[in-house]
Amino acid sequence: MEDDLDSSWRYTQLLLRSFFKGRPGTHPAGIAALPRALAAQLRTTSIHLDEGARAVSGMKVLTDEREYQGRAVIVATEPTDANVLIPGDRVPWLAQTTWWLALPKDSGRRSLQIDTVDRPFTSALDLTAAAPERAPVNSILVAVPANGVYESSELDQRAVEYAARLFDTPTTDISLVEKSVVPRALPKLSSSFALSKNQRRGEVVLAGDYLQTPSIQGALVSGRRAAQQVLTMLGA
Ligand SMILES: Cc1cc2nc3c(=O)[nH]c(=O)nc-3n(C[C@H](O)[C@H](O)[C@H](O)COP(=O)(O)OP(=O)(O)OC[C@H]3O[C@@H](n4cnc5c(N)ncnc54)[C@H](O)[C@@H]3O)c2cc1C
Repeated sequence: MEDDLDSSWRYTQLLLRSFFKGRPGTHPAGIAALPRALAAQLRTTSIHLDEGARAVSGMKVLTDEREYQGRAVIVATEPTDANVLIPGDRVPWLAQTTWWLALPKDSGRRSLQIDTVDRPFTSALDLTAAAPERAPVNSILVAVPANGVYESSELDQRAVEYAARLFDTPTTDISLVEKSVVPRALPKLSSSFALSKNQRRGEVVLAGDYLQTPSIQGALVSGRRAAQQVLTMLGA
């Protein structure tokens, strides 16, 4: 997701290892199924949704609705949002725009193709190979990502032509299902990155992928480390 090749090589190796050893997958209900599954295990904990935190301290959280008191506070937002609550170092972001295209079912199916000839596009992924349930009727769903923010529709036709070339399909058989523009897609890991950053900022504990590795895996590990940190603080 970056063009300058200045991301950490150690992190890149970690990713390559995951891609090589792992298996791609999505959840039929969307990725929100993961926090729902975690929440379903809670027995005595209450969760308040749609209530943005406006100010935090070591034992207090002020939201638009009320003030909460606690023995510890963990801020588990993205780095930019965390800095609003407790000022800290700015973390740079990698942006991504993805064109989601429907292609005929009999298009030449090759699950992932890396092709940087027609920039800004970087690859084309037949998502249907990993998640058939995601495909529009009688079609396969192909994702064409580009690094950066491309709000206007001027690249839409070029994305179609890019997929047409890689999947050997006439452009007239391809339709744009949706385009997603995510300016803050992943925090950028510089080459000087260190695993296991300090998760404490003053009295408050932090959690988030930017403190480990930019990924769901990194977010989960960071969450566990934050919980351990709180237990240590409380002497539990
Ligand atoms: C399009 C896309 C595709 C991705 N695909 C993958 C993938 O295939 N595999 C993978 O491992 N990773 C993927 N990622 C990355 C992954 O989503 C992140 O690494 C992960 O979600 C980070 O988790 P987090 O808990 O650190 O932060 P987030 O998931 O960003 O959670 C932070 C939460 O804090 C909330 N928040 C912010 N401010 C406040 C406030 N003031 N008060 C209350 N709540 C607040 C936000 O609403 C948000 O829900 C993808 C990311 C994007 C954008």
